[in-house]
Amino acid sequence: MPGFELFGDLERKELNDVLDNGVLMRYGFDGMRKGHWKAKELENELSDFFKTNHVQLVSSGTAAVTVALASAGVGAGDEVIMPTFTFVASFEAIMMLGAIPVLVDIDDTLTLDPKAVETAITPKTKAVMVVQMCGSMGDMNALQAICTKHNVLLIEDACQAIGGNYNGKPLGSIGDLGCFSFDFVKTITCGEGGAVITNNKSYYINADHYSDHGHDHIGNDRGAEAHPFLGYNFRISELHAAVGLAQVRRLPEFIAIQKKNYTILREALARVPGVTFRKVPKGGEESYAFLNFFLPDLDRARKVSEAFKNNGIDVCWNYFDNNWHYIRKWDHLKNQKSLFPISSEVKAGLEKLQNTTFEQSDHYIGRNISCLIKMSWTEAEVKLRASKMVDAIKSSI
Ligand SMILES: *Cc1c(COP(=O)(O)O)cnc(C)c1O
Repeated sequence: MPGFELFGDLERKELNDVLDNGVLMRYGFDGMRKGHWKAKELENELSDFFKTNHVQLVSSGTAAVTVALASAGVGAGDEVIMPTFTFVASFEAIMMLGAIPVLVDIDDTLTLDPKAVETAITPKTKAVMVVQMCGSMGDMNALQAICTKHNVLLIEDACQAIGGNYNGKPLGSIGDLGCFSFDFVKTITCGEGGAVITNNKSYYINADHYSDHGHDHIGNDRGAEAHPFLGYNFRISELHAAVGLAQVRRLPEFIAIQKKNYTILREALARVPGVTFRKVPKGGEESYAFLNFFLPDLDRARKVSEAFKNNGIDVCWNYFDNNWHYIRKWDHLKNQKSLFPISSEVKAGLEKLQNTTFEQSDHYIGRNISCLIKMSWTEAEVKLRASKMVDAIKSSI
């Protein structure tokens, strides 16, 4: 997945266009630009790639999730259903708007369990946020059916799954709104950046205005623009967008490299007794950003993790003990360690978390090992890695 591996002359050229004309901001300054609109161009490229009508670039993936929720009207007191296994950005974005994160179990897809989602729906539920973790996806048909039945939004955080698809649709383009990150470890990078995608024109207009202080972007005098509603600044800079523009053009090449490396590792591990793989829903194709597999239990998963470390096999994790991705270690959330007061509704929601257990999530996360697929490995390196992984697993289970 890491965008930090592959960049060079193409990125430099796009960036130099921006530096040469000196307009580092994506809006305004029309006369000075010499025709360069990197953020707009990147939005157009992404719109083609995602087969989606509207794309709004923003400053990060976390901003993308925040802007997506805000654009669809999610706010104070609304409940947003999210998975126990994700990145901390999910609840950060929800809480920033005063909404209440409702955490529910994952299943063997390593994303939201539709049954757990349905059980968690209340009259206050406004959105279900599926997080397409580690390059794959949830059962989108089932999730969509639940959202339609209960008339709630389906928000897709596809930050880790760019290039994956489901029934022919790019991940991120299936829900009411989709979110992407272009931070430094994602498949393509801007340094920092993100995108909200949607086919809903009014959500898009909301995202466009909200991410730029409420500016309506009508006319070509920024200072004279109206602000129909309140906004914030989640803008991407023209410098970041320029890097992303070079990167997005290489995305098919990056996905192909991920697929090649993933396939070598998977075929080797598939021959090891006791190893099984995460479920990819029918009709789905992963982005190949990670290879995820299960061992029979937590104890053996920990042993294999340890054996990987001792044999120099890096970028593989058992997320059960991970600080960033799994609820077990989110004490700052459970204990409400906020710099500023939190609303009583959100507090009440978080208090419930302290006494909730997630046995089903523990069952899957405890047995899982998740290996990042790098793009800079040579074929020989991947093959050596595969045989070392096989040996390490065989010797520890
Ligand atoms: C990276 C990531 C984000 C946040 O993206 P940033 O650009 O780092 O803010 C959100 N959700 C998931 C699943 C991610 O992996």
